[in-house]
Amino acid sequence: MSETLLKRPSPEMVDAMRRRGMAERVLTVQSSTRVTPNMQRVVVTQEGEGAFDLKPGQDLVLMLPDQEGGLGRRHYTVRRYDAATGCIDLDVVLHGDDNPGPRWALNARAGDQVVCFGPRGHIHLRSGAEWRVFFGDETCLPAILAMIEALPEGAPATAYIEIEAEADAQAVETQGDVRVEWLVRAGPAQPMSRLLNAEVAAFQPPAGQGHIYLIGETSSVRWQRQSLIARGVPADQIIAEGFWRPGRLGGHDHVRD
Ligand SMILES: Cc1cc2nc3c(=O)[nH]c(=O)nc-3n(C[C@H](O)[C@H](O)[C@H](O)COP(=O)(O)OP(=O)(O)OC[C@H]3O[C@@H](n4cnc5c(N)ncnc54)[C@H](O)[C@@H]3O)c2cc1C
Repeated sequence: MSETLLKRPSPEMVDAMRRRGMAERVLTVQSSTRVTPNMQRVVVTQEGEGAFDLKPGQDLVLMLPDQEGGLGRRHYTVRRYDAATGCIDLDVVLHGDDNPGPRWALNARAGDQVVCFGPRGHIHLRSGAEWRVFFGDETCLPAILAMIEALPEGAPATAYIEIEAEADAQAVETQGDVRVEWLVRAGPAQPMSRLLNAEVAAFQPPAGQGHIYLIGETSSVRWQRQSLIARGVPADQIIAEGFWRPGRLGGHDHVRD
């Protein structure tokens, strides 16, 4: 086991995260493999006992080595959790080898350890919807597929997922009545997603109470939320969060304006 690779966050940070309801956990890497050309899957298990109370779609805050020799927070969704084996799958978008997330995922070896907090997050499958629609780019693919895979039998849902290349599409297993539209961008991700924004602009909400998930690059999510609200979609049907934006290091953006 690579104990030397384990860097611990400061006691102040552990306290601050605990006050926000997030437990500190030590994860051990089991494997790291390429799932599709631009996605690396790191399978981890939790050291020791401790309930892993996860809602499908939620994420973990990983403490990853940054360029300055410190630790930076990076959010990664639990793509899949197997309670029988304790295996937690994390799918990391390879948007640039120099950034802490992809660097960690590409170099992760069985036995490496990393500290995380969580599970956390308000992006998760909620009850009380007659239909659901998901819009997101590849950083949201793990969350969208985790939520789709947890749908009850016959539950209607549509997902629009932007990916870099056709080969980045993934198989979806669900009991829901689901349609997934893969939007192939052919190039690196940009702010103000042309493909996703066009789908949101064309979207006509079905009758009844539904949930619309808008996740991805923050300026796109903000534009999409404003576009729906301008067309009369009630704000309480929209669940929105910015997963990344140019210049931001880790973190997340609440989008409520
Ligand atoms: C709740 C939540 C769940 C998330 N789940 C996942 C997940 O399951 N898988 C996943 O891969 N990501 C996920 N993300 C997004 C991920 O946390 C961010 O992309 C994060 O910035 C990645 O860290 P990094 O070290 O790669 O880049 P950072 O060091 O944080 O960023 C460096 C720069 O790279 C650019 N950048 C960051 N992310 C991207 C990107 N995806 N595409 C293009 N440019 C980018 C920005 O300009 C940024 O300033 C999630 C985010 C949130 C908030």
